[in-house]
Amino acid sequence: MTAAVAAFRFDLCTLPPAAEALRAEVRAFLRDTLGDAPPVRRARSWSGVDREFSRKMGARGWIGMTWPRRYGGHERSALERYVVLEEMLAAGAPVGAHWVADRQSGPLLLRFGTEAQRERFLPGIARGDLGFAIGMSEPDSGSDLASIRTRAERVTGGYRVNGTKGWTSNAHRADYMIALFRTRVVPEKKHEGLSQFLVDPRSPGITIRPIIDLAGSHHFNEVVFEDVFVPEDMRVGEEGAGWKQVGAELAFERSGPERYLSCVALLGELIREASKDPGERMAVTLGRLVAHLATLRQMSLAVAGMLERGENPNLEAALVKDLGTNFEQEIPEVVHALLGCEPTAEGSDLQQVLAYLVQKAPSFSLRGGTREILRGIIARGLGLR
Ligand SMILES: Cc1cc2nc3c(=O)[nH]c(=O)nc-3n(C[C@H](O)[C@H](O)[C@H](O)COP(=O)(O)OP(=O)(O)OC[C@H]3O[C@@H](n4cnc5c(N)ncnc54)[C@H](O)[C@@H]3O)c2cc1C
Repeated sequence: MTAAVAAFRFDLCTLPPAAEALRAEVRAFLRDTLGDAPPVRRARSWSGVDREFSRKMGARGWIGMTWPRRYGGHERSALERYVVLEEMLAAGAPVGAHWVADRQSGPLLLRFGTEAQRERFLPGIARGDLGFAIGMSEPDSGSDLASIRTRAERVTGGYRVNGTKGWTSNAHRADYMIALFRTRVVPEKKHEGLSQFLVDPRSPGITIRPIIDLAGSHHFNEVVFEDVFVPEDMRVGEEGAGWKQVGAELAFERSGPERYLSCVALLGELIREASKDPGERMAVTLGRLVAHLATLRQMSLAVAGMLERGENPNLEAALVKDLGTNFEQEIPEVVHALLGCEPTAEGSDLQQVLAYLVQKAPSFSLRGGTREILRGIIARGLGLR
């Protein structure tokens, strides 16, 4: 048991003065740029998309913050980046156009891409000009990602791709997608023979079909590939190394503050409403929620510290995401149970925010890896499987 407990590395991490100094700058920018956005708009968290806003962030140097200057980055620390992210999320800023590219596509290219790919794509991402989508899941392969069937077969000068990706967020808006394809079928060894590719979603043979979500909005898509040619120089990393690379990418995807702050606008409204006449039960519940929030923040910061030191936070990221999404999903339930508040799009700020998040919250523990899959990773980290 001692060895298992020692497997989690959540070092206490305090933000350096440079990071805290940045916070005031970011808040002033958000005040000037967004003004007083209504709570229901802020509730959209990182799903709001506004390319102009992304460009303004790029001009401030707040995209690709940790990347080398020669690729358009700013060589700042992961903890400074953390401050920018949490302020954006707390304000519900429309960061969706660049979020995936900044969080995982850019770092993936930095780590596994060719020099030519880094020079071609990273500066555009850092300026806020290029948005990316994630092409991993397929209609029959979500949790069991290694079972994907979309084939990329070698042809002269590149690959011919056939298959279907599903639940692809923002594929209809993205400039590029980083997709996982099967380049070789290795019987009984599904984790082998997978490779990652940069794909232009406007390539001939690609059809992007909207999938409308529970809330009536279009952010998901089905992306069908029919004899799509992908040039050789768009492969990311070695052929067949896709599984290892995807694992690294998912660690970036799972550990950030967006994994516990999706309902922060609702928590704010709850505190505002409850503070008028907080009973003991409400005070105890709010105290518990805020204590959880502070703990999750510390854990997520510890992961940012690991990324800063170049360590692999796979296990810790899975824990942050599992605990973080439980926390996020509890907040709408608490609002409903303790205030008796009914979700309605025409009611008070609190009711509107609740109406929006009641429909969104179920997806929090699906996107980026489901609860069961994360718990499998945690169990493996504890030596239990
Ligand atoms: C909001 C949102 C955005 C998304 N965006 C993207 C995107 O941009 N790109 C992309 O590629 N994908 C995206 N996805 C897809 C997401 O990654 C998958 O939905 C997720 O991995 C689960 O896969 P699935 O939907 O096929 O469910 P399944 O894998 O079929 O799982 C169904 C249920 O069975 C459980 N289960 C499955 N296997 C096991 C097991 N071995 N042990 C125990 N329980 C198990 C799961 O935990 C889940 O509860 C998005 C999903 C959502 C909700």
